[in-house]
Amino acid sequence: MARTGLTSDEEAAVLRSAPSRHPRLPSVHIVSQTALATGLIETFGQKAVMDAIRDVLDDARAREVMLTADEAAQAAASHIAVSQVSGVKVVYNLTGTILHTNLGRALLAEEAIEAADKAMRNTIALEYDFTGGGRGERDDIVRDLLCRLTGAEDATLVNNNAAAVLLTLNTLAEGRTVIVSRGELIEIGGAFRMPDIMASAGAQLVEVGTTNRTHFRDYENAITAETAALLKVHTSNFRIEGFTKSVSAGELSTLANEHNIPLVDDLGSGTLISLSEFGLPDEPTVSKALSAGADLVTFSGDKLLGGPQAGFIVGRCDLIASINKNPMKRAMRVDKIRLAAIEATLRLYQYPERLTARLPTYRALSRDIDDIRACANRLAPHMAACVGAHFSVEIGACESQVGSGAVPIATLPSLGFVIRAACSQHEGRALQGLANAFRSLPAPVIGRIKNQAFILDLRCLEDEEDFIANLERLVTTGGSGDRGAGPT
Ligand SMILES: *Cc1c(COP(=O)(O)O)cnc(C)c1O
Repeated sequence: MARTGLTSDEEAAVLRSAPSRHPRLPSVHIVSQTALATGLIETFGQKAVMDAIRDVLDDARAREVMLTADEAAQAAASHIAVSQVSGVKVVYNLTGTILHTNLGRALLAEEAIEAADKAMRNTIALEYDFTGGGRGERDDIVRDLLCRLTGAEDATLVNNNAAAVLLTLNTLAEGRTVIVSRGELIEIGGAFRMPDIMASAGAQLVEVGTTNRTHFRDYENAITAETAALLKVHTSNFRIEGFTKSVSAGELSTLANEHNIPLVDDLGSGTLISLSEFGLPDEPTVSKALSAGADLVTFSGDKLLGGPQAGFIVGRCDLIASINKNPMKRAMRVDKIRLAAIEATLRLYQYPERLTARLPTYRALSRDIDDIRACANRLAPHMAACVGAHFSVEIGACESQVGSGAVPIATLPSLGFVIRAACSQHEGRALQGLANAFRSLPAPVIGRIKNQAFILDLRCLEDEEDFIANLERLVTTGGSGDRGAGPT
């Protein structure tokens, strides 16, 4: 009985099949007078409780089952309890992917959380010019910081990088053409396909080169009077290796300048600092892309930058001014809560050596392997006890990755639990069952299955105590008879 959200046991207890063809149900009024319903009304109000009772009685009537007033009130209480469960479910990301798009990407720094909190609780000067008392620009809150950190002349921001690309192309190239290499016509998960974004922006895509090789002359030959911009796109989530050729931003910038058209560089993740100190290959920083000659650079707020979702556009003053005048900008603007969090996140970059301590993304990236090992050793006995005798648990090496299309092929050595089925028969099914059991925990634990093992990478696990308490609720199928913990 999905509508009341009861388990089958509860349902059986609450609802008795009515042998009579004339089941007589109590009225809504009578049910609402029960002690339970009176209490519910005090907490949730008249409307919600009456609606729940009505639903329960309608359902019972439709199914020709009999209910007493107390049973109906009980069912209504369950109904309300289900509606109280938040859709925002906290999970443990033990996938090894630090910035997991499906798990919400970057976690915010405490400073950013405090700033967002302050902005939520207070009236703030969002678009207020203190010198004249008139109207200011909301982007001013972060413009100077963005310019200082990237070396850009000017900066603006919108909801996310997809919007930044869309807005940039629409402003520069609506009704005209934009030249892109075939090797850079990427699709990012969640329906971001460069050709589609281009079409939505009203710009016509001119593809040049081939999948693996694009030459300077390909761009050169494609330029016409209709060309509004050259676009370079970071091939975020893949690498083509072997017989390849692409044209650097520097070379493209020369070509763009010669023809007096802007060069736009969509960096995707983008980063404000070099990644080499984390043992990762260097991603182009925003300032490098600008000094290579890009007229505009777009990048995300919640990828390597480690902030909330946002899309930044930095570069030439005159182009940013046109972008800010585009009515589409108004539809993509960032609210005060995120602006506050973005500003606080960007401020942390003023002191780069503090980043690994302050920004969760960099903390995870730079986490020491010995620290991860110590965590694994502390958790191992709990893990072994929880999965039961049908599985073996080992601490083993695994590879973390950055995720969200940043440095796609580089990995960071990490450690985690490598859990295998004790019996090789049906091991695939046993591991799937185990992964399901972890996913069904009150705070779901998300790992991955690889090489006949369920792997839980511990790089992103910080709160061990809560993790252990959560783990005690694990119910493994096939292994449930072995252990004391009851069903949740
Ligand atoms: C991730 C990415 C985007 C989209 O950015 P969002 O902030 O997710 O909207 C666009 N372009 C590239 C190259 C990307 O990697």
